[in-house]
Amino acid sequence: MGSIEVDNVRKVYDSKDGDIVAVNGVSLSVDDGEFVTIVGPSGSGKSTLLRMVAGLESITDGTISIDGTVINDLSPQNRGVAMVFQEYALYPHMNVRKNMSYGLKLTTDLPSEEIRDRVEETAEMMGIEDLLEKKPGNLSGGQQQRVATGRAIVRDPEVFLFDEPLSNLDAKLRLHMRTELQRLQEDLGTTSLYVTHDQTEAMTMSDRIVILDGGEIQQVGTPETVYAEP
Ligand code: ADP
Ligand code: ADP
Repeated sequence: MGSIEVDNVRKVYDSKDGDIVAVNGVSLSVDDGEFVTIVGPSGSGKSTLLRMVAGLESITDGTISIDGTVINDLSPQNRGVAMVFQEYALYPHMNVRKNMSYGLKLTTDLPSEEIRDRVEETAEMMGIEDLLEKKPGNLSGGQQQRVATGRAIVRDPEVFLFDEPLSNLDAKLRLHMRTELQRLQEDLGTTSLYVTHDQTEAMTMSDRIVILDGGEIQQVGTPETVYAEP
């Protein structure tokens, strides 16, 4: 569960300076359990593509399917995806426990004991069980990143969407979190689409790398083929 089919997708933003074609006819198949990284220069459409899969941006043309179901018109909560953002996007007024349980309460009818158990299990897995009663403002960047990842995991999604999740961390923490995300990927085996600027992240984490430029796919391949010396 968790295969993604992006079929000839376009995104055109209206702006006061005219139309901006952010994604221009992208097609891509991601297998169940595959970890695919999207790289490319700033403005190449990486975020827009991810946000269309997440349902945070409408799709101008083309279709996106997950497990064979077209998701173009499904709400974000009904797509089986969970996203982790660069800015963590935690709710500042809620403690960690509430940040993690809120989405489940809103979108499932799980009994509250089960939600509590799932939050606590996930918090242990992410090493944040001692932070559950704290507010995000009292956490370090690395801790907030763990909470944001935990909040995505607790939803038990078919697909993880990561938008530069490690960019705000210092180099040492970035390396540490990269190793943790890799371990997580091995443990959970959830399909992942991962946007990054960092070539080392792309090299070490991905099954396949997609290079976007000008809203179009320039190259798709394994890390070895994409970054092979010419
Ligand atoms: P990347 O993630 O690769 O940096 P983006 O997907 O953010 O690229 O942006 C792709 C293009 O779409 C850029 O030209 C950007 O300026 C434009 N864009 C992104 N979001 C919006 C928006 N909400 N309104 C208008 N243009 C946008
Ligand atoms: P709101 O604006 O209602 O405070 P958000 O804009 O953060 O909430 O989220 C919009 C919708 O996306 C919500 O219905 C929420 O359930 C869902 N959502 C929240 N976090 C995630 C996530 N990490 N991945 C996918 N969907 C999420």
